[in-house]
Amino acid sequence: MLYSIREQTSRTILSRTSGFLLAAGFTHSLTPARNCTFGCSYCYVPTMRVQGGLRPEDWRHWGHHTTFKSNAGELLRRELRPEQVIYCSPLTDPYQPAEGERRLMPEVLAEVGANPPGMFVMQTRGPLILRDLELLQAIPRLRISFSVTTDDEAVRQRFEPHCAPLAERLRVMRTLRAAGLRVHATLAPLLPCDPGRLAAMVLEATGEDLIGDPLHVRSEKPRGATTREAGLRLLERYPDFDSAAALATIEQAAIGAGRRFGTGPAAFGWLTTPA
Ligand code: SF4
Repeated sequence: MLYSIREQTSRTILSRTSGFLLAAGFTHSLTPARNCTFGCSYCYVPTMRVQGGLRPEDWRHWGHHTTFKSNAGELLRRELRPEQVIYCSPLTDPYQPAEGERRLMPEVLAEVGANPPGMFVMQTRGPLILRDLELLQAIPRLRISFSVTTDDEAVRQRFEPHCAPLAERLRVMRTLRAAGLRVHATLAPLLPCDPGRLAAMVLEATGEDLIGDPLHVRSEKPRGATTREAGLRLLERYPDFDSAAALATIEQAAIGAGRRFGTGPAAFGWLTTPA
């Protein structure tokens, strides 16, 4: 996708959490940019509109541009505290394609490594994270939550054409793990897939508990962020996909491997525990 990169200074970089993230045990979130150049068809963020800190140009042109918080490093130097439990990032992928050119995350991670919080959780699906491996290794209490949505490459290309294929994501998770980092596969949102096959692959790659979330639809989630229209239209092509049955299959696979599988804030809360 063609996208443009913008810059803006911010007054703050860490936000107090509420709702889902607070219930999961996070005290703060860190969002390095506004809008996300992965531009996934189902992304919940643009449906949050002003509640997500967005401007109309963001939710109308999701993925077409991104605005980096250019003073992120300086702000972190002032705002980081040892008791914070930080989620990075609820509103954009820190390793979105535009990060390859802008390179804001090395500054962010250097500050986090110099003044480490109680726990720092990186949520991403971007193979670009490997660029910053040494900086990640310098953060003492870190978990990586790596998004994987399907084992079906045709489904992946339909719903998230600008994201990496499954094989590459598995390779990235294995590399992070081999480097001594704890990386969880986050099956969220769970797209049409062969759930048993998907679970086996990510369990082998990470060796950790699995976290998931079904693709929300407005009828099941009357308030708050939900799936974009573009994602819902694509989902209509898979009327036989039963996400409840898929989640049950994944849970059985996790139990069989001696691991847990969960959804919602309770499962995301597993990421906040240092052990
Ligand atoms: S990577 Fe995440 S934040 Fe970015 S568009 Fe996709 S779902 Fe949204």
